[in-house]
Amino acid sequence: MLGWMEVHGVYLHFPFCVKRCLYCDFNTTTGTLEYLPEYVNAICQEIDLVASSLSFPLKIHTIYLGGGTPSLLSVYQIDQVLTRMRLSFDLARETEITLEANPGTVSFNYLFGLHQLGVNRLSLGIQSAVPAELTLMGRIHTVEEARQSIQDARMAGFDNFNLDFIYGLPGQTKANWQQSLDFAIENAPEHLSLYALTLDDHTPMARQIADGILKTPDDDMAADFYEMAMDQLAKAGYQQYEISNWATICGDTSRVCMHNMQYWHNQPYLGFGSGSHGYSQGVRTVNVVPLEEYIKRVRSDQKQVFPLSPANEIRNEIGETTRMQEAMMLGLRLTDEGIARSHYILLYQQDYYEIFHKEIDRLLGLGLLEWVEDNQERIRLTRKARLLGNQVFMNFVGDA
Ligand code: SF4
Repeated sequence: MLGWMEVHGVYLHFPFCVKRCLYCDFNTTTGTLEYLPEYVNAICQEIDLVASSLSFPLKIHTIYLGGGTPSLLSVYQIDQVLTRMRLSFDLARETEITLEANPGTVSFNYLFGLHQLGVNRLSLGIQSAVPAELTLMGRIHTVEEARQSIQDARMAGFDNFNLDFIYGLPGQTKANWQQSLDFAIENAPEHLSLYALTLDDHTPMARQIADGILKTPDDDMAADFYEMAMDQLAKAGYQQYEISNWATICGDTSRVCMHNMQYWHNQPYLGFGSGSHGYSQGVRTVNVVPLEEYIKRVRSDQKQVFPLSPANEIRNEIGETTRMQEAMMLGLRLTDEGIARSHYILLYQQDYYEIFHKEIDRLLGLGLLEWVEDNQERIRLTRKARLLGNQVFMNFVGDA
């Protein structure tokens, strides 16, 4: 069981978008902005309810406002949420506060306002630097607007921001992907997230592919694009620290995303807002998704035992075996650090090489895992396995 005083991260979900992108199957809505003020009040109420179920202020070191499009909230509304967080929890002095923003929704004044509130990390969903690809994806912004938002963010005082890109689009060429990589490197963000396109069958883009309107994405090309990114970003001074994430690390200043590290280290976090996930005290929770239902449940004001919330639709106790399996799957995502045996023993009182020696030896033999040090203290994915992560992770699920 996790200790009560463990430092937590907090994820806040804002499922509002101007228009649904054609590849998107995330938990978000459009045409619902009239709910936004009520929703912000509800999320504040949920924070208050969960925090007050403890007799002491819980320590928090990361806050992540994700979506959807959290940059549709006004500066006043973001202030409302962050003030509630500060009143309810014990926020570390250096708390990482990230906000996801869509370049089509921000201005210099807006970003300046956010920075003044203490938002110290921005994640901009650029997705591509090729105008035709932005149209193909149904994004609401242009390449120029993306460039302008980056400049505005810098001017507003942000010295830590992430750019998101997607590769493996239908019909994407090497020259197109190179254009996006060049854009990324030229704009020198502290952090980059590059995601391979994955399509749910119900998305408009998947239907266009099924109808033969768009080309089927080419997996081999996507693998080449990933290799290009790994090579060029390393040359540009980025360290790949996770399968899809790169950061600048200069001396003591590392720009890895502390909030996501909390997930990958299998550490606790709370989730507030519709459809958000939480993991604390050995319990995984998922909140109800429909906006009206979420608001109604929070308004019922039923106090629960920490970390539960009246908005939870799913509550699953995670057993020790599952926790240890999940720690393997999450930790192996960390392509540089991998998983330290001593740390694992400290957390789970067992050595992963003793539990999973058959699986590990097989994967070492296949060249998919490697020991980082000669003394076999840390294990991680090999370079070729970064593209085959799921195949590797599957070995750690099931009867351990
Ligand atoms: S902005 Fe993000 S969450 Fe909103 S529709 Fe597009 S991909 Fe989905």
